[in-house]
Amino acid sequence: MSNVLAVLEQRAGALKQVSHEVLTAARALADALGGSVDALVIGSTGVDATGLGAYGADRVTLVEDEELSLYQPDVFNEVVTAQVRAGDYAAIILAATAMGKDLAPRVAARLDCPLAVDVTAIDGSGGITVTRPAYSGKAIYTAEVTATPCVISVRPNAFTPSENAREAAVETRPAPRPDLRTRTVRVNEPAGERLDVAEASIVVSGGRGLKGPENFKLVEDLADAFGNAAVGASRAVVDAGWRPHADQVGQTGKTVSPQLYIAVGISGAIQHLAGMRTSKVIVAINKDKDSPIFKVADYGVVGDLFEIVPRLTEEIRKVRGG
Ligand SMILES: Cc1cc2nc3c(=O)[nH]c(=O)nc-3n(C[C@H](O)[C@H](O)[C@H](O)COP(=O)(O)OP(=O)(O)OC[C@H]3O[C@@H](n4cnc5c(N)ncnc54)[C@H](O)[C@@H]3O)c2cc1C
Repeated sequence: MSNVLAVLEQRAGALKQVSHEVLTAARALADALGGSVDALVIGSTGVDATGLGAYGADRVTLVEDEELSLYQPDVFNEVVTAQVRAGDYAAIILAATAMGKDLAPRVAARLDCPLAVDVTAIDGSGGITVTRPAYSGKAIYTAEVTATPCVISVRPNAFTPSENAREAAVETRPAPRPDLRTRTVRVNEPAGERLDVAEASIVVSGGRGLKGPENFKLVEDLADAFGNAAVGASRAVVDAGWRPHADQVGQTGKTVSPQLYIAVGISGAIQHLAGMRTSKVIVAINKDKDSPIFKVADYGVVGDLFEIVPRLTEEIRKVRGG
């Protein structure tokens, strides 16, 4: 039992970026265990799976049905557990996204197997161990998985996708039709084109230091200067109605782990840090040098954000040639 099943995510027929991270984590674990990687994509028809070998899949199974363009818990659970029962897996890996957070415990419960959620590292060199932040990110713990198969959800952006020269065999299967206890009828997409904070590799977040919702233009301009960055917010500004809840980072918002997190006018309350302290590089801009955000920042700029942010935006534009 050394193979790994990677459960990937698609939206409207396009694979989500986090799927490459899940595959990368699965490949590394399978290599350590001496097994192979099966990728499973459940969803609408027409998903292009040709590139998945490059991220580590040996085999890809597409379970396609237009009815599954939205996440349907009972069907997805049925597909994953059936594949696990028919196979020989040490681990099932998913992303700790909204879908993965719902699906992972369902699969683990049905298979009666161990579950490790929101992990940031997996080691397969001597059994399977996982690492994850605990207590709002104040502690990091490592846990040994004592039975297989096990279900592991990985935190988005914690695993950097890596490519290799591999070709995957692709097969397509029809979806089962179990009795549905619940059915997803629609997803309310936030307005606008911006990336979700939980998925972006660069997040620029603003807090109460911006003084008013109109000044979020500064944060948006900085995000735009990077090209493809998301705009996040502290709870204080979400509660004040300046930004939608979907943008909130923190204990009662989203957990993010981007390559770069820029906190603009955010004090760094423990509940905010809980959602962003595992970011790879943290930059804080705050006029108070004693602000707690500087304790977790890799780079700190002490000063008035209304002077610093436009200058930073200008410099980023120059560097990126925009
Ligand atoms: C149960 C619970 C759950 C919570 N969940 C969350 C959560 O999920 N996410 C979250 O963010 N918070 C959460 N909070 C709230 C949290 O405790 C803080 O109140 C909140 O994060 C503060 O937001 P802020 O940093 O924007 O505002 P403030 O704490 O008011 O900080 C504003 C910062 O802006 C700086 N500033 C002001 N003017 C300027 C300027 N001109 N230039 C530069 N800097 C300037 C100030 O020095 C200050 O540090 C939660 C609280 C509780 C009790």
